[in-house]
Amino acid sequence: MSAPSLKVWHQIKQTQAQVRDWKQQGLKVGFVPTMGNLHAGHLSLVEQAQQQADKVVVSIFVNPLQFGVGEDFERYPRTLVADEALLAQQGCDLLFAPSVSEMYPSKQAQPMIQVPSSLADKFEGQQRPGHFDGVATVVAKLFNAVQPDVAVFGQKDYQQWCVLSQMVSGLNWPITMIKAPIVRDSDGLALSSRNQYLTATQRRIAPNLFRTLQDLAQDLAEQRGQIQHLLHDSEQKLLQLGFDQVDYIELVDKACLETIKDYRDFSPEQGVLLVAARLGMTRLLDNYEWITN
Ligand code: AMP
Repeated sequence: MSAPSLKVWHQIKQTQAQVRDWKQQGLKVGFVPTMGNLHAGHLSLVEQAQQQADKVVVSIFVNPLQFGVGEDFERYPRTLVADEALLAQQGCDLLFAPSVSEMYPSKQAQPMIQVPSSLADKFEGQQRPGHFDGVATVVAKLFNAVQPDVAVFGQKDYQQWCVLSQMVSGLNWPITMIKAPIVRDSDGLALSSRNQYLTATQRRIAPNLFRTLQDLAQDLAEQRGQIQHLLHDSEQKLLQLGFDQVDYIELVDKACLETIKDYRDFSPEQGVLLVAARLGMTRLLDNYEWITN
């Protein structure tokens, strides 16, 4: 028996027709949106989708709308041929790889969704104004192209997960949203397409981000000091370890990403630590959940 073959399509209409055909056969469709340059983290999302659905679609689209001026849109790694091979090997059914003009036919791409500021203007949104409107818009367009029953996103981009799961529930989209755990290198660094921007020295410093989060998580769980002091100490530690800047390191509530300043408002079930720090021009994101739910 020959291995199942990967279809590679670039047009929305083809993709919609294929999914309609699968659904007419009573098959459940899973979806993993990505920007490509696939690594084991992305493939773990595909695996999760395969467990939940009969057919799996992966999209690869570097979305100009979610990049700010001076960010890395132009140099973001585009490795479609290698990505196709990985997806074929993984048994993925369809790769949807649209062009910018297929996704945004009018020359000036505009966000069509405005994410509520209570969620979008903090942390990543504060560092990258308009970022989440761009993410929400592209994911909404991709959902309409693929019409999945199930969609899988990584915990790695925690705020993105919150924005998108709230968008789906807020708009009553009939899509089951799944949050997949972070896949890490053996030294603890969360896998990311942007890790390849790191120099050898920066790459040696990078795993300290997760180590520092783990230590902080333990200190917070054991209430070894005031929350603000422990956060401040961790920030200082990261700078001493060689990070050039800490954009934020915060203890927040999972549901609304409100900062938690007092142990009376903190429970491991509801708390998550978020961090973003820079090594040179490269921003690394990570987070820590005491209890995944
Ligand atoms: P990206 O291609 O960076 O836009 O990521 C596509 C999806 O993969 C998003 O849902 C990310 O959260 C997820 N992802 C990225 N890195 C990881 C990782 N190390 N482990 C698990 N999921 C990841």
